[in-house]
Amino acid sequence: MAAKHRPFAPRQQKPAAKLETKAEEMEHLAERTALEALQDTLEVSCEWVQENLVALLKEELVDDALGKLVFHLRLCRPCQTELDSLKTALGITSPLPALDEPDTGIVDSILQDAIKLNASDIHLEPMRQGLRVRLRVDGVLHEHLKIPEYAHQSLINRIKIMADMNLAERRLPQTGRIRVRMADKDYDLRASTFPFQHGEKAALRILDRSAVLVDLGKMGLSADQLQEVHDLLHRPSGLLLVAGPTGCGKTTVALGLLKALDPVKLNIVTIEDPVEYVLEGISHSHVNRKAGLTYPEGFRHLLQQDPDVVFLGEIQDRETAEAALQGALTGHLIISVMHASDAVGAIARLRRLGVDPGLLSSTLIGVVSSRLARKVCAQCRQAASPSAEALRSLGLAPGIPGQFAKGAGCETCRSTGYRGREGVLEVLEVNDEISGAIKQGADEVSLFNTAVRSGFQSLLRSAASLVTQGVTSAEEALRVTSDLREMRGEDSDG
Ligand SMILES: [Zn+2]
Ligand SMILES: [Zn+2]
Repeated sequence: MAAKHRPFAPRQQKPAAKLETKAEEMEHLAERTALEALQDTLEVSCEWVQENLVALLKEELVDDALGKLVFHLRLCRPCQTELDSLKTALGITSPLPALDEPDTGIVDSILQDAIKLNASDIHLEPMRQGLRVRLRVDGVLHEHLKIPEYAHQSLINRIKIMADMNLAERRLPQTGRIRVRMADKDYDLRASTFPFQHGEKAALRILDRSAVLVDLGKMGLSADQLQEVHDLLHRPSGLLLVAGPTGCGKTTVALGLLKALDPVKLNIVTIEDPVEYVLEGISHSHVNRKAGLTYPEGFRHLLQQDPDVVFLGEIQDRETAEAALQGALTGHLIISVMHASDAVGAIARLRRLGVDPGLLSSTLIGVVSSRLARKVCAQCRQAASPSAEALRSLGLAPGIPGQFAKGAGCETCRSTGYRGREGVLEVLEVNDEISGAIKQGADEVSLFNTAVRSGFQSLLRSAASLVTQGVTSAEEALRVTSDLREMRGEDSDG
């Protein structure tokens, strides 16, 4: 990121790497302290600044006081006005060059902190007094910083400039995109402003390309599951689905599947809405509803392009579903995404859309489904002994051996006990039994039981396995599978 002049911002040039060594941990704490220094600087009052303006103009201020004053003046309009009238009164015409530089310090620092902490979203929210900065880390919001009211509009303006928004428009919501480069990595941010009662709020979503573009082998798949996925990807034709609820990592899994294909030997094409990540060697395209290029329409044309693999961004309706299945039937590998609770839920949803069970049973080859569980913080991990009740809910026998763990809470994990997330996955390979059950119109329960009988490791099982390995806590596994436990309870004999 361009940060030529940031004399008072914390020194934070480190990438958002995982804190592995003690030295890095110390560095991390030092940076946290620097952020507190920034907080100090921000809390300088207008009164104090105005009392010291004469000293500033006479160049009597040094170091700390000078820094704080200039920092404040760049952000605060009333104090700027005061300075201007003082200059006129004293007959001073020489400019103060430091004040002409735009303020990038706070916004840059917030972005750097957010990236360092692996945040997915940044919220700058006007409250009754000042601006609250919150970061969403591992799916949960945390307060990061409080900024006095005087700096509010300057910060929002800075974001609006970066996102190429209309600076003068404060009454209507706006959206834009910000591209930043930090520690040799590119980040895309989706920016959005909205006029709330106490002023404009900005929300930023960080799209970290490298975090999304994860190899299949690093997603949390077990060795068996990884093998199954590779087998499915080597099939010459069929429909392979990725299913899950919002925020479960579907995009990451779908991109991982595409990334695992050979773009040299295969013709891989996509139709998406919109294209978010461009993969080398793959031809991406996007729907254009205004021009009449819908998912099924675009997809049918793509099939004329001699593809081996087609990625269809999402199946939401019957027409798209049937187009995908027809494409799979005519000798192409089709990969697509569906909003559903899990693998069996996706099959049920396709049937509810009215898809022909015969067509479905003969073309669907597999469904991969995912959840994201927060990992126990490595810095404050300690042994845990989950209750028999919790174990039972996870389908585990009481007294089962395991390296159960939980986080005590420390500064690194901001007292949450968790840091980072791990994929919880299931891979449903449609074998003859499952295909037969689909054809006969079996209900979700019997579909699920058929799958389990043929060795299917469900999301709940995968979550339980992460608990016994101490990757996540029993509480977290229960949280991310809460909707599934009622629906997909296995008979506890297995
Ligand atoms: Zn002021
Ligand atoms: Zn911790």
